[in-house]
Amino acid sequence: MPSAPLVPHGDPSTLFISAGMQPLQPYYLGFSQPPAPRLASCQKCLRTGDIEEVGRTDRHATFFEMLGNFAPAGDYFKETAIPLAWELVTRSFGMPVERLRVTIHPSDDQAYEIWTTKTPIPAEHVTRLGDNWWGLGRGPCGPDSEIWWDRGPDVGCGRPDCVPDHCDRFTEFWNLVFSAIRPARRPERTALDRGGDQAGHRRWRPGPIEAPGDRHRNGSGPHQLHPPGQDEHL
Ligand SMILES: [Zn+2]
Repeated sequence: MPSAPLVPHGDPSTLFISAGMQPLQPYYLGFSQPPAPRLASCQKCLRTGDIEEVGRTDRHATFFEMLGNFAPAGDYFKETAIPLAWELVTRSFGMPVERLRVTIHPSDDQAYEIWTTKTPIPAEHVTRLGDNWWGLGRGPCGPDSEIWWDRGPDVGCGRPDCVPDHCDRFTEFWNLVFSAIRPARRPERTALDRGGDQAGHRRWRPGPIEAPGDRHRNGSGPHQLHPPGQDEHL
């Protein structure tokens, strides 16, 4: 799919596109048919929720492009999305398994099962994280599962039991969102007719993954600790 304009068309809920799946919401909600069962895009995005952190850390930005793959009509779901992401990250990107960690929503036993049986990642490298829930306003939402890059034990808190989202040691670079629920006007939520799946990562993330950790380890620059925030996540 071509990147949609940064200023959304036909979506009065926001001034700017902030996620790769945002222009695809009509497909997820069944308002229109996607052009293909499986979609991929490189979407221009603008986020201002964490603008105060831009320049203070090496992992915040306002404008970026987000790579993503999507199955808005339910062509695949967790059982395919997780192995697909793993293949892309480890084979296509060539990222070493021992430097990768995974987080899942605390309620998502299915994702845990898939990660630990369909990929070689060790079970002790899969952590349950309450922040692993994703949605845009009244659009589709659901539990998500993130892949994190280990920048090394000498980055961040230094604790041997450090886990993703604790400090700067781990950087989230890929998020699988299992969009299965449509928020209702009231607290109860209703299931989407067709579970959809989206996955994506921020294009600028490979920079922080490769450079700052090395810089830190070489001792040529200070490393600023910063508490992670919700806006970190896709
Ligand atoms: Zn830590």
